[in-house]
Amino acid sequence: MTEPSSSPMGQDPTVADMLAGRPHLSMHALDGLVLEDVPLTAIADAVGTPTWVMGAGTLRARYRRLTGAMAGAGLSPSVHFAVKANDHLAVLRVLAQEGAGADVVSGGELLRARAAGIPASRIVFSGVGKSHDELGLALAEAIAHIAVESAEELEILSAVAAAAGRVARITLRVNPDVDAGTHEKITTGLSTNKFGIAYARAVELYARAAALPGLHPLGFSLHIGSQITSMAPYRAAFARVADLVRAVRARGLAVSLVDCGGGLGICYRDEGEGAPAALAGAIRAELGALDVRLAIEPGRWLAGPAGVLLSRVILRKAGEDGLPPFLILDAAMNDLMRPSLYDAWHGILPLSARDAVQPPEAVNVVGPVCESADSFARNRMLPRLGDGAAVALLDTGAYGMVMSSTYNGRPLAAQVLVDGGRWSVIRPRQPVAELWAADRVPDWIAPAPVGA
Ligand SMILES: *Cc1c(COP(=O)(O)O)cnc(C)c1O
Repeated sequence: MTEPSSSPMGQDPTVADMLAGRPHLSMHALDGLVLEDVPLTAIADAVGTPTWVMGAGTLRARYRRLTGAMAGAGLSPSVHFAVKANDHLAVLRVLAQEGAGADVVSGGELLRARAAGIPASRIVFSGVGKSHDELGLALAEAIAHIAVESAEELEILSAVAAAAGRVARITLRVNPDVDAGTHEKITTGLSTNKFGIAYARAVELYARAAALPGLHPLGFSLHIGSQITSMAPYRAAFARVADLVRAVRARGLAVSLVDCGGGLGICYRDEGEGAPAALAGAIRAELGALDVRLAIEPGRWLAGPAGVLLSRVILRKAGEDGLPPFLILDAAMNDLMRPSLYDAWHGILPLSARDAVQPPEAVNVVGPVCESADSFARNRMLPRLGDGAAVALLDTGAYGMVMSSTYNGRPLAAQVLVDGGRWSVIRPRQPVAELWAADRVPDWIAPAPVGA
């Protein structure tokens, strides 16, 4: 993607640009910003801020776009939603009703997916460091497959499965050593990353897996990174895995599955959204003739655009020496960490139609947490917003709430699910006393001072 030459970041999209790319959001003269059919001001007023809002209708529509694109290419992969992107039970349930299974990366996520009603037979388990307990749980639940990420884990899983008298269905997660061309903190398919089995060792380890007790190798998994919007890295990685399938078969070993992972990107700012049809085309071109079952593990693409984070301006703080003012929000990096962690850009829209038409000005949008990294946007052009103005941070449905912490004594924000014209609180704001409710002060510490 080439950047406009006028400035390193180019022009920020306008309010109209941001709405045009997001059909689930619309601006109405009286109701202001509406998600599906619910005015977001009504939620902010009733529930307070900060509050996460997910659109169930938007999730379903995106799921159907993705599976429709696959079907259009003659593919019917099993879809395993990456639970780490958004793990709320209601979100998992909406996707499960559409037919999705789950991709989990811990025993906790596995149990959560089961609690959401996802059948174990539709759950796959990845991760570089699965504990013996987690492997045992996956075996006891008889999940679809475990993606083994190292030679060491292969031996451990064989021992755990044999001891339990079970057979583990596995894939080998290979590291295709392909640069996904994305942010360095979300690229996973390079040989310098911790993920997966070195490409050069994959054939040998597959043969080893076939010989070990307690293991039933099905095929290969890969996941080269996240927020990928160009098909070149996918094609290169799929082509390398296709070569592995042929090499393993040439040794007389059976391969029945390729799990293509996730990573399809969305449009946060002005990068083109990763196109499901293009991904389907890449899978078909490289893997379509192999006669294997296919799986995909989308996270961000399904959930990201379906969510917003509602927040209010606590106050405007004047900038020094003609620098832009600070808009200090009541949401912070403990709620939405992506801007601090990945320099991520999130669109910001006013909830009020009157605010949305104010003349634009450059501002620094920050949270109240005591860290300079607690910043949502630097030098961002936004319509002029005063104290108390409500805003939506866009495209926060993936890797948003799941990364929240209570740093700075800030309770976890409320969560709301919208579905068409209906909405419900799906998780109340955390009561502040809950933050220390589980703390235990040993009785050998002196009691609190009298009068405290
Ligand atoms: C995180 C992850 C995914 C989902 O990635 P997205 O970029 O959100 O689509 C899929 N598979 C594995 C193994 C992952 O770790």
